[in-house]
Amino acid sequence: MNPSSPAEAAPKVNVFRLLSQRLSPAVESDPTGVDWIRVLPFIGIHLACFGVIWTGWSPIAVAVAVALYALRMFAITGFYHRYFSHRTFKTSRPAQFVFALLGASAAQRGPLWWAAHHREHHQHSDQEDDAHSPRQHGFLWSHMGWFLSRENYPTRFRRVRDLARYPELKWLDRNDALVPVALGTGLFLLGSLLGYAAPGLGTDGWQMLVWGFFISTVAVYHGTYTINSLAHRFGRQRYDTGDESRNSLLLALITFGEGWHNNHHRYPASARQGFRWWEIDLTYYGLRLLSALGLIWDLRPVPARILDEGRSGGSGRGGRST
Ligand SMILES: [Zn+2]
Ligand SMILES: [Zn+2]
Repeated sequence: MNPSSPAEAAPKVNVFRLLSQRLSPAVESDPTGVDWIRVLPFIGIHLACFGVIWTGWSPIAVAVAVALYALRMFAITGFYHRYFSHRTFKTSRPAQFVFALLGASAAQRGPLWWAAHHREHHQHSDQEDDAHSPRQHGFLWSHMGWFLSRENYPTRFRRVRDLARYPELKWLDRNDALVPVALGTGLFLLGSLLGYAAPGLGTDGWQMLVWGFFISTVAVYHGTYTINSLAHRFGRQRYDTGDESRNSLLLALITFGEGWHNNHHRYPASARQGFRWWEIDLTYYGLRLLSALGLIWDLRPVPARILDEGRSGGSGRGGRST
């Protein structure tokens, strides 16, 4: 496909006009509009990062922020995405709940809400009903507008009947702020304790809260969002999936393997998203480790026919890139 061909180019969307329409108070009753009251915590988490101006930094606070980025990015991709959304492996019921708690610590709402919206994305990928398609709704909306709108706040239970059978998951979904608040409180207490017991570390409660929770959470947010926005815009298409999903090494590194998004759209049922040995997929390696430890099992592989299809380029677009 020639990207410059106007007949085949994706419809042009004026992102700023669209966003201003949706943010306008005049559309308060519009279900696609932004719900400002419920958006305030999201804005607050971003603004709180500026607290670093007053708290400064310390090696221990930055290390905790990096560790929590890694843990929570893995929980989002390995558990919210590859387990709850796609059921690409099996585990025990207690482990399932622990995985849900870890995912919830990323403050991206509950596991049922997340999985239901994600299943809809695969159902309607880059079509009109895809809530976060950059082709349909513009780049900014796909990145961080769609989940702020009224219509996307409710959990769509009909998409997650398999998960809604578990009352503990439904409870967590209803109380999705609990884990993030507990994490933030715990970090503040940890920093306060270290400031008192080990003043040489140069940290305190507020600094640990800003780095460990706010900065780390915002980094996980935007890392995750790139898959809905950038991974449907930039990169290469190995498979002709009929949507705009792309493969990108850079995004795969940021998101621990999710950047192999065109592979994933071709075969979402696999625990693995990097289909070739060089397609680094940290989440898959982590899942293999959990499998070796006996915590999860029956990781679903990529069928040979899918791998062959990618090698032959038969149905692919021959490395189209933009
Ligand atoms: Zn996608
Ligand atoms: Zn998916």
